[in-house]
Amino acid sequence: MNIKKWIVAVVALFCVFMIGTVASVYIYPPQGVLIFEYHRVNDDSVDTDDYSLSRQQFQEQLDYFKDNGYNTISLMDYIRAKKYGEELPPNPIILTFDDGYEDNYINMMPMVQAMGMKATMFMATNYIGKEGYVNWQQLKEMQDNGIEIGSHTANHIPLNEVPVENLDNEIKLSKLLMEWNGMKTIYFFSYPNGVYTDESIKCLKDNDYLAAVTGNAGYNQSNTDNFLLQRTNVSNYRFGSLGFKWRLLKTKILYRLGINQHID
Ligand SMILES: [Zn+2]
Repeated sequence: MNIKKWIVAVVALFCVFMIGTVASVYIYPPQGVLIFEYHRVNDDSVDTDDYSLSRQQFQEQLDYFKDNGYNTISLMDYIRAKKYGEELPPNPIILTFDDGYEDNYINMMPMVQAMGMKATMFMATNYIGKEGYVNWQQLKEMQDNGIEIGSHTANHIPLNEVPVENLDNEIKLSKLLMEWNGMKTIYFFSYPNGVYTDESIKCLKDNDYLAAVTGNAGYNQSNTDNFLLQRTNVSNYRFGSLGFKWRLLKTKILYRLGINQHID
């Protein structure tokens, strides 16, 4: 065989493999908990920021979840199910919001509540009260309204850039600052930019966190590492709801192929 034929054969084999993989996720859909990563819900920033969804885009996704039988749970629900075998609703999903933008208070919370859904917000605590971010009163109000609050460090620095001796400032103090300001105990953490290190995981465990979310898409199972939970990033897709459905399919494919899956 000449080189050309080899290339055709390899490409054909790859296509068959991918078609088989895609077919498998339809025939045997993956099971487990899907965690979604959002940032902003804001009509004003949607044209300039990939991490912003318009209210309409966000509502379409909430409707999609409802129409397709997904049920929102909190991270605490997930951890309790894992630890104590408590039952979860069918097709459980967790909606998470990073950074602590004020539009989460203004737009996200009422929209989620109107759907009877749950959500989790991860705060970069030194941003609280700055322009564009929630203030302490809004944050407390969100918690009182059932939004689960977690930490996203103090200063939003990727943890591989934080000297080990300063990890406590980002991981421990961000948690304590919220608790000292009257928030309930903080148990959950989101890695800035999805970056984690062995030292940061150790620091989280030493400070009584129960779980942390990454930016690696996939399904969370009973044997998924609690400090490397799989999470699907949702951005402002060029192709609207088709883009969102492709993102979901991509998560299923990555999971099925075992790419970046954190199994204990
Ligand atoms: Zn962030």
